Amino acid sequence: MVKCLYCGKEVPDDSAHCPHCGAVSHFQRKGYRAGARRRFLFWFILLVLFSFFMAFWLPR
Ligand SMILES: [Zn+2]
Repeated sequence: MVKCLYCGKEVPDDSAHCPHCGAVSHFQRKGYRAGARRRFLFWFILLVLFSFFMAFWLPR
């Protein structure tokens, strides 16, 4: 259980919205942050693969 940021009442960890005031819960904010990190990791891996490709493809 976590405390709602808006009304201060207890909200289940896995519920997307506060059952008391209907505000977006901590769970959804956490999920959003994890999604952003995953997107960052995707671009980071793409960049690493690209630099590996360039390192082998370009004449030394
Ligand atoms: Zn609330």
